Amino acid sequence: MIISMKLHSSKQEIEQVCERIRDFGYKIHAIEGEERVVIGVVGVGDVTACLESVEAMPQVEKAVRISAPYKFVSKEYHAERSRIRVNGCEIGGDEFIVMAGPCSVESEKQIMQAAEGVAEAGAKLLRGGAFKPRTSPYDFQGLEDEGLKLLAKAKRATGLGIITEVMSDSDVDLVAEYADVMQIGARNMQNFALLKALGKCGRTVLLKRGMSSTLKELLMSAEYVVAHGNPNVILCERGIRTFETATRNTCDIAGVAALNELSHLPVVVDPSHATGKRSLVPALSRAAVAIGADGLLVEVHPAPEKAMSDGAQSLDLAQFRKMMQDLQPYIRLWKQSRVTEAATAAV
Ligand code: PEP
Ligand code: MN
Repeated sequence: MIISMKLHSSKQEIEQVCERIRDFGYKIHAIEGEERVVIGVVGVGDVTACLESVEAMPQVEKAVRISAPYKFVSKEYHAERSRIRVNGCEIGGDEFIVMAGPCSVESEKQIMQAAEGVAEAGAKLLRGGAFKPRTSPYDFQGLEDEGLKLLAKAKRATGLGIITEVMSDSDVDLVAEYADVMQIGARNMQNFALLKALGKCGRTVLLKRGMSSTLKELLMSAEYVVAHGNPNVILCERGIRTFETATRNTCDIAGVAALNELSHLPVVVDPSHATGKRSLVPALSRAAVAIGADGLLVEVHPAPEKAMSDGAQSLDLAQFRKMMQDLQPYIRLWKQSRVTEAATAAV
């Protein structure tokens, strides 16, 4: 249930409403907003009696039952876009944020070259898996701790923020020591023990859509992280499994627009896993900018032909540089539409 207070309600009026809610046995999850306060309520069972009672209070504007199984990530709860600050930049704000780097951290030379190259081309975060989920268990599974240390070195050298995957709840504390953004892979989108552990990790989470998951399921998983105490979640469309074989996965590009309608969380697109082919990455990246995504997560490798994972979908540094240049006119239009949106919202 979400309760919207009348404009400029006093602290005392808000507390009276909270007290009434608690009397009914429900919990206040969060109180948002300054001029117009919105109270989020959680609890099991039929809320009708509580809703009617609260709605009758003079200081309450509206009380709404939320039928969607997710609340805190919904637009109804928080109408403006969430802006998430990560290592000096803002995701979900006025900048289109590109995160780029290799699929896996393989060696010091590889990650340093990748970091320097993507930073020069305008990326703001360096991606690179130290813990790798693979399709076959016999494939390379990452350098683990050593990979994390190499990412830290690349961060010191370039100033880039780090996004890296965490696969198990027992590794959350370790990965959080090195990562600015904790990546949750498609295969772990519904690993609830892991999602729960992320609630208290103190880092932003990037949640990839499971390959057979609906948008509703993605939002429910995001909700689970938020409900466990971490509001900083970024959603990522990385393609889903369909009958199509020309691309590795099928990018649900309209899903990005749908997520923006349903949720206030930032949404980024991973054009690398969505296509599986480097030749298709620039076109899908343009589509991501045009549809209003907040950024990209792209695989870039200094020598893709030698990559230990996902070489076929990785751009080399020159291709990435060119793509970033070619995206600039689209990003300019993107910025204009963000400014128009902000101006319209302010009216
Ligand atoms: C990755 O980003 O390298 C990765 C394994 O992605 P996904 O979880 O989307 O397959
Ligand atoms: Mn990969």
